Amino acid sequence: MKDLTVVRTVADLRHAVGEFRAAGRTIGMIPTMGALHEGHTSLVQGALDRGDVPVASIFVNPTQFGPNEDFAAYPRDEAGDFAKLEAAGCRIAYAPGVEEMYPGPQLTTVTVAGLTDGLCGPFRPGHFQGVATVVCKFLIMAMPDRGYFGEKDYQQLQVLKRMAHDLAMPIEIIGMPTIREPDGLAISSRNRYLSPQERKIAIAMYRELTALAANVRDGRTPCAKAAAESAQALLAAGFDKVEYFDVVDAESLAPIERVAGPARIAAAARLGRTRLIDNVAV
Ligand code: AMP
Repeated sequence: MKDLTVVRTVADLRHAVGEFRAAGRTIGMIPTMGALHEGHTSLVQGALDRGDVPVASIFVNPTQFGPNEDFAAYPRDEAGDFAKLEAAGCRIAYAPGVEEMYPGPQLTTVTVAGLTDGLCGPFRPGHFQGVATVVCKFLIMAMPDRGYFGEKDYQQLQVLKRMAHDLAMPIEIIGMPTIREPDGLAISSRNRYLSPQERKIAIAMYRELTALAANVRDGRTPCAKAAAESAQALLAAGFDKVEYFDVVDAESLAPIERVAGPARIAAAARLGRTRLIDNVAV
């Protein structure tokens, strides 16, 4: 690697970041679980656009996976990831092992209440605590000026914004737009699980999200009823199970019955063995 420094320990990460700081640079952190795609590299570009030195982490975090989720099967391609990061202009890749992130029993966790009650919360118990805790650790390890996260995981983004706010972290949490395939499917590391047939069905999610957004934006259409119809449409298109299809306040994530301000429509559904999530603004 010519322009990308790969580090595996907190000490080496701090040293590498410190050299850029000493040169007067600001730091932008991009936490990822690897299996990188254009969604991730758009976050690196977001950091570059703001003049930050991009620092990405690659860590498949065991504490954010449930016992029946895909932790062991989660795609891993470290060499490919480093090449993509370097090509995108990233300067530091932090790829710690589990021992470096969790040396011994961990008695401290970060829980963001309220924002995690709905949407993915009930379907992934412990998930957001795992995410908030590991991201909190990454931010303390690198001490960036800004952290870059995708709107693709909208609930996660709101949780992390609130964490940074509530804990008075001197770090700005930046939300970046969802990068999509030409047909609208949100790019995700999990899309590779889809069979060619499922891949065709998958576009129904973005289609139904945008259709519902257009439908409820007038502020008169009752959201719950319209969203229930969207969920039915997903099943009719070939999805196996809809976990939720909700219209929520864009910040509090509380369900809303009529759109009166910034809102978000978010959905999670199962297609074969793949769980897909996506969301759009209203
Ligand atoms: P992950 O590796 O899935 O944990 O994602 C790492 C970061 O990339 C998170 O902030 C995600 O929200 C973001 N991300 C994932 N997919 C996309 C996408 N299609 N567009 C924009 N950001 C994304």
